[in-house]
Amino acid sequence: MNSDCIFCKIANKEIPSNFIYEDENVVAFNDLNPQAPVHFLVIPKNHYSSLNEIKDSKVFGDIFSTIPKITEKMGIKEYRTVVNTGASAGQTVFHIHVHVMAGREFTWPAG
Ligand code: 5GP
Ligand code: ZN
Repeated sequence: MNSDCIFCKIANKEIPSNFIYEDENVVAFNDLNPQAPVHFLVIPKNHYSSLNEIKDSKVFGDIFSTIPKITEKMGIKEYRTVVNTGASAGQTVFHIHVHVMAGREFTWPAG
């Protein structure tokens, strides 16, 4: 828990949010500023500021194995997953999160 971290506050329910998924290790919730008709974030409950702090494959296993559970319930089979690492890559919240976006066409390469 990092007391300055907005996503720690969300994960700890200090900020009320409508979780679309929660288990012992991760939570998922809709992005405040969606970039697609479906845009949610999956985060570990423990604080890691970015991918550079992840030394343990379990953290990403927990996050990524959650995504198809959520998308299947939503009836979504095609989606974009994004992890921004560092400010120049577009990271603005320094608690690791995976973006899941769907409901429109996505171009490649990402901007
Ligand atoms: P990043 O730019 O770090 O990859 O993504 C951070 C994301 O978090 C952005 O898409 C932004 O809209 C979202 N975000 C920032 N603050 C909040 C918040 O308080 N609540 C929610 N639900 N999303 C947030
Ligand atoms: Zn945090």
